[in-house]
Amino acid sequence: MATIARNIALQEIREKVVAGERLDLDDGITLLESHDVLELGELADLARRQRGGTDDVFFVNNLYLNYTTICRVKCKFCAFARTSKQADAVMWDIPDLVAHAQQVREHQEFTEIHMVGGENPHLDFSYYTDITRALKEGLPGVDLKLFTASEIHHMTRSCDMTHEQVLRELIDAGLDTLPGGGAEVFAPRVRKIIAPGKEPGAQWLETHRIAHGLGLKTHCTMLYNHVETYEERIEHLLSLRDLQDETGGFMAFIPLPFHPQNTVFERRGWKFSTGQDDLKMLAVSRLMLDNIEHVKAYWIMISTPLAQVGLSFGANDIQGTVVEEKIAHAAGAVTPTEEKIADLVRVIQEAGKIPVQRDTFYNELRRWDARA
Ligand code: SF4
Repeated sequence: MATIARNIALQEIREKVVAGERLDLDDGITLLESHDVLELGELADLARRQRGGTDDVFFVNNLYLNYTTICRVKCKFCAFARTSKQADAVMWDIPDLVAHAQQVREHQEFTEIHMVGGENPHLDFSYYTDITRALKEGLPGVDLKLFTASEIHHMTRSCDMTHEQVLRELIDAGLDTLPGGGAEVFAPRVRKIIAPGKEPGAQWLETHRIAHGLGLKTHCTMLYNHVETYEERIEHLLSLRDLQDETGGFMAFIPLPFHPQNTVFERRGWKFSTGQDDLKMLAVSRLMLDNIEHVKAYWIMISTPLAQVGLSFGANDIQGTVVEEKIAHAAGAVTPTEEKIADLVRVIQEAGKIPVQRDTFYNELRRWDARA
């Protein structure tokens, strides 16, 4: 009986998708509860095409940097953070970090730097503006995607400025966009368990609202596969959708599965996400987020083969070359830390799609043919 009821509910959702109607909380939960992952993928792809999506699949040539691993927050899901006393803690001097990026650029023409770090209590606000300015000046033509909303919030506390003041100063120094990290799951119950030291979800949303108001286009994420319920996942997506209705400032959504290795949750026996759940999240994100144009299959966390399949489940972006990714790998990601352009092109073509290299703002830089 339960199966019949689920099939009827899915059929009703299909009718809404075909009619271009917005899905609600109950629809989202029904989708996540469904085991018919192929149906979800087909529906997500249908929704993507109905909203103007083509066979283009985007990627960016980018460099990941982490200016510090020192962090005061101690999120329970994090395998990246260190205290300043730990021998392997990292804290980059600005000239060294810029020189490092310049060195990489000699053999890799990246167009974006994605840089985040821990909430280091020993840094003055001037460090953030100085590093932004130094990267901008030292790497002309490279888009700077720096600092999560959580880091922005941390800066406001360390320098006694408002979020708007902090963002204005960073934009003035050369900040081009914010990455989507720090969102985790917005539900207070979940944050209390996994990230009690982090700002509330409402503050994360408010920081992006302010950034959008200042003209920044930004990114958004959700970290799933830990203590959250399906209802909390969908509520998270609806919060993002509401903000997007208001500002139109999000360029892309990236669902991120929690990796337990080297975290306190590993000792509690928590597991990596399954392929079924990862594909469901891609499809459901696409279906619920009807106003965010791009959904990324983040190969760093779900593997390149699954990301490739994800391109038939509503995703239209496979992230990037990602030189030197460290955060997911600290938590046990088994993917290589960089994928060369030729590999990404092959993965996209073999999925029957058209590879398009983009810049940070989805401007097309290069296009390949579809595989005959
Ligand atoms: S997730 Fe970010 S804020 Fe939380 S402990 Fe790790 S580095 Fe710090």
